[in-house]
Amino acid sequence: MQALSTNQSGFEIKPYPDFSWSLSRHALLEECPRAHYYHYYASHNGWLKDAPEQTRKVYVLKNITNIYLLLGSLIHERAKDVINSIVNKRPPPSLEILTKITRDELRKAVRESRDKDAFYRSPKYRCMLHEYYYGEGITEEQGERIIERMEACLKNLLECELIKKISSVDASSIKAVDKLDSINLNGTKVYCAPDLVLLNPRVCQIIDWKTGKDSEENEEDEAWQVKVYAKYAKEKFQLNEALEIKADLVYLENGTMDERVIIPKDIEDVERFIESSIENMQGYLEDKDQNIAKGTGSFPVTSDEMACGRCNFIEVCKV
Ligand code: SF4
Repeated sequence: MQALSTNQSGFEIKPYPDFSWSLSRHALLEECPRAHYYHYYASHNGWLKDAPEQTRKVYVLKNITNIYLLLGSLIHERAKDVINSIVNKRPPPSLEILTKITRDELRKAVRESRDKDAFYRSPKYRCMLHEYYYGEGITEEQGERIIERMEACLKNLLECELIKKISSVDASSIKAVDKLDSINLNGTKVYCAPDLVLLNPRVCQIIDWKTGKDSEENEEDEAWQVKVYAKYAKEKFQLNEALEIKADLVYLENGTMDERVIIPKDIEDVERFIESSIENMQGYLEDKDQNIAKGTGSFPVTSDEMACGRCNFIEVCKV
């Protein structure tokens, strides 16, 4: 793809976004094709100083998060802190310290979310919670539930068997700690960020921290998620066929763990799943080589009101 030009910092400015696949992208397209269009196409180059007003607006909205997603990413950050301490032979931070850091981050997010103008100026560097952008903010009751969830997750993180196990394994067997990475599948970049991968000569163990509830509703997504992680691990670490691949989903709020074994058929299934999802996504393109999307009207809006209620793009969609 040709670059349009470079900006003053030397970054390449591309007229169209690069095409890539991720499970979250697949999920957004499933939920609402129009939201997928806003997120992956209409916001492109909205970070540039001279971006058209609508592009800038969509880009700003794309950066909104919500309190549950924020809490999830903060807990993942704390898990990374704990593991990095262990890898570097330092005692992990205490529960008090982890709680204080997370509580301070949540307070900062709420403070920043009260200033829409500042967010509009720096959407990448400030937090905006959906609850404040589109609603009245977080109620006292919601706030208490969030704090309870945070405390339970951090306590269970420190007490979890896996953390104890990591303390006893060789640091060289810890391969990935919550790092966005990608593999190539038939020429498409497939993004993936497993929380932790432990690798020894017999087994590859993939660990995924969950900060939400273990519910039947999420079962299908979680099943694909662990298979995507397994496919990633297989490619990235060149795992041989004889090596066992396991995935452990750790539900931090209630301290339970769901263990899964990945079989070769799972890897074949997930390859087909990703290929078919890519084909579906590219059905919305006018030009596959340059990743140029068809017009807005080619991306239908969902009829699911719950999806609209939590969507970042209400302001540009519901006009
Ligand atoms: S507001 Fe609803 S229809 Fe519009 S993009 Fe969001 S989810 Fe889709």
